Amino acid sequence: MSRTIGIDLGTTNSCVAIVEGGQPTIIPNRQGARTTPSVVAFTEQGDVLVGSPAKRQAVTNPARTVYGAKRLIGRKHASAEVSSFAASCPYPIVPAPNGDAWISVGERTYGPQEISAYVLEYLRGAAEDYLGEEVKQAVITVPAYYNESQRQATKDAGAIAGREVLRIFNEPTAAALAYGVEKEGNQRLAVFDLGGGTFDISIMEVHGGVFEVLATNGDTFLGGDDFDRRLIDMLVDHCQKQTGVELEGDAMAMQRLKEAAEAAKHELSVSPTSSINLPFIATHEGAPVHLIYDELTRAAFEGLVQEELGRLEEPCLKALADAGLGPDQIDRVILVGGMTRMPAVQERVVQIFGKKPARDVNADEAIAMGAALQSSVMSGELREVVLLDVTPHSLGLRVVGDRFSRILERNSRIPCREKKLFVPVKDDQDFVTLEIYQGESDDVRDNHYLGRFTLGGLTRKDGTVPNVEVCFTMDADGLLHVAAVEVATGKAAAVEIQPSGGLSPQQIDRMVEERHGGQVH
Ligand code: ADP
Ligand code: MG
Repeated sequence: MSRTIGIDLGTTNSCVAIVEGGQPTIIPNRQGARTTPSVVAFTEQGDVLVGSPAKRQAVTNPARTVYGAKRLIGRKHASAEVSSFAASCPYPIVPAPNGDAWISVGERTYGPQEISAYVLEYLRGAAEDYLGEEVKQAVITVPAYYNESQRQATKDAGAIAGREVLRIFNEPTAAALAYGVEKEGNQRLAVFDLGGGTFDISIMEVHGGVFEVLATNGDTFLGGDDFDRRLIDMLVDHCQKQTGVELEGDAMAMQRLKEAAEAAKHELSVSPTSSINLPFIATHEGAPVHLIYDELTRAAFEGLVQEELGRLEEPCLKALADAGLGPDQIDRVILVGGMTRMPAVQERVVQIFGKKPARDVNADEAIAMGAALQSSVMSGELREVVLLDVTPHSLGLRVVGDRFSRILERNSRIPCREKKLFVPVKDDQDFVTLEIYQGESDDVRDNHYLGRFTLGGLTRKDGTVPNVEVCFTMDADGLLHVAAVEVATGKAAAVEIQPSGGLSPQQIDRMVEERHGGQVH
């Protein structure tokens, strides 16, 4: 039987694990590191670099070094989130024909799915080297708060990498599994995950091998990169005042600044001060310019990121409210993600939950370990654990007046199925067009559009209005399937949602062909 692996496909860092002898084990990459930067670079010579080698050459090749692809995956080029990321991103982000955010590298454009596929292939390669055998299947984690498009796109990344994705698995559930698979008793957990690009909070209950997600919330655009950005802005400003030189727009200088800002942030997690020293950052009227910032204190840095720290609270309170619990009813707060090493983040956790977070989980590795545990549960190697997960967003249809008619409420247990009856708007109408949205606003225009389909040829008898029953099913991967039936006749609609974005099966086939010469092994 072929082995299965668990992959934490992170915005910033990715990690791969396997279960050996019943225990999850992190597999080191080819450089011997336990996590791999989620960075892919395309050299002028036509080579593709993944991980640390890609990250290391970013300064000299900023426009062809792609990081943060997870921030773009399943998103539209025109969305506010993509525009805000593009403003500080050294590589060009372009609209695909269907409006998705893609990446332009030289003559070619790549979907973020393809970039992520390179990371997945690299990690799988590391696992195959380690095991000395082929790995055919993987469990890949995603933020619990990911919507339909983002989940589907992640699954597509796995397909492009030429491997079967056994399950799209929520990151916090994975972390809880890594934490609690051997724990006895009944515990209520809050999994607080602040990584490079996303913030996720899940309230869970663990009892006797049952992992139940009570509620989940988060912010898919809050992470370490935003903290770095504040520091970078301050340093650009400082440089402008000190030397008159504007660094913004100089991709190489900005890349160096980004690395220095992140390094200073890390240092401030353990020391009260740090300094930034970037000689020869630019030239001004023929003379070299050095950027020096002495004595950046931890307090000053915390001052710069007040807004980001403040944004941590609301998702936690919402998740608690949805779970019907007060902070005092949480037994343990588990910290996941590199940013939870920042002392001010930990202080916020204490303020919100009124208790010190647990320290017995490895913030960088827990998710991959949980994914590996889940993969071995699915392949039958490990005893069954029961995972009760929930839908992160409400799903429904657009009805008259751009109102949102919910069919699946957020935080419904998955897999789940709900039905609702609809009638055509106009009396003489013999078709209905169903537009599917995901989100929480009563006005669909504020929600995320997923796709549409039409059920035509409705039978009209005098005086009767045809009823259409719409059924939404969410599977265990958190992916939606929609069916519509005319009640009187049993006539069914073409049920596959026409995705408003993402890749078509033909596009995926072409990408697989390109990578693997048509052979998926
Ligand atoms: P992701 O889940 O997005 O891949 P990680 O969990 O690896 O991300 O977290 C990456 C983020 O954590 C980065 O912004 C990184 O700078 C930050 N980080 C890592 N170590 C530390 C530290 N010691 N102090 C502060 N931030 C850190
Ligand atoms: Mg992460």
